[in-house]
Amino acid sequence: MNSSVHQLVKASIPAYACPEGTKMHILNLGSLNVDEGWLLLGVNSSSVSNPSPQNKRRDLMIIAGLIEHPEMGLVLFETGCADDITKVCHSYTVPSTLIVKWGHEALDLFPRIQYGAAHRLPAAIEATGNSIDDVKAIIMGHLHLDHAGGLEYFRNTGVPIYVHEEEFKHACWAAGTNSDGGLYLGEYLDIDGCLNWQTFNDSQLDLATGLTLYHCPGHTPGLCILQINLSKNGTFIWTTDQYHIKENFEQNHAHGWLLRDYRSWVDSGKFIRRLQKTFSATLIFGHDFSVADGLIKAQKYYE
Ligand SMILES: [Zn+2]
Ligand SMILES: [Zn+2]
Repeated sequence: MNSSVHQLVKASIPAYACPEGTKMHILNLGSLNVDEGWLLLGVNSSSVSNPSPQNKRRDLMIIAGLIEHPEMGLVLFETGCADDITKVCHSYTVPSTLIVKWGHEALDLFPRIQYGAAHRLPAAIEATGNSIDDVKAIIMGHLHLDHAGGLEYFRNTGVPIYVHEEEFKHACWAAGTNSDGGLYLGEYLDIDGCLNWQTFNDSQLDLATGLTLYHCPGHTPGLCILQINLSKNGTFIWTTDQYHIKENFEQNHAHGWLLRDYRSWVDSGKFIRRLQKTFSATLIFGHDFSVADGLIKAQKYYE
């Protein structure tokens, strides 16, 4: 026998499970309705044989994660849309002007079709037996307007908001120059000190026992996924919008009009596939209605 065989250790990836008593909730914060062309490259496009295809649309769930972590306290993963996305408010740059928060075009393209009292962020947290006032930290996978709107509840609270530095810088550039399709809103970034931004540069950040962030650019330059190792229900990976819907992952089908850096998206996807396999992880996609709904209905919480 080759002597090197004796040098092999038992195959394992060192990874901690979350402490005893950790609970993970999936919050339903309402839904949007969009043309599938935003989500899947090439769909709904015309051809010679089908010059006027039917433009299929899809319902997307707005989701957030709430983790009761015995060491870190109550942790929120992303925050959904703002409570009132149509509200007019004063523009910071031109004080006499009133602007619509999401803009008429965004409201027309991505209407919020489901948003009742139970979908409001404070109510969704309350339904888990917790209070939004007890949130100790927020992790932002990325800062698009349908993920960062709920930061409005955390102005002047001092709650740390963890986000990759590349995402924060890109969001400031995009909002400040009105670039990248208006997907970032300056009002949600609050760089005047009202929000406690905590940026990091690491490609892998172990934020707390059993909670790890990985930089996975592609959909946005600073997108991070969240891995959570639960002792009873196993490993979950919150992919945020690296994958809007399960077809992006299962068929390796890139986003449509929401794709930015294809090469990075492919590389991030290869990494996530390896990670998923290594940990036999369950993926929670950014907006897949059926996957999130199934997980919410299957268990009250995961532990
Ligand atoms: Zn999104
Ligand atoms: Zn996004």
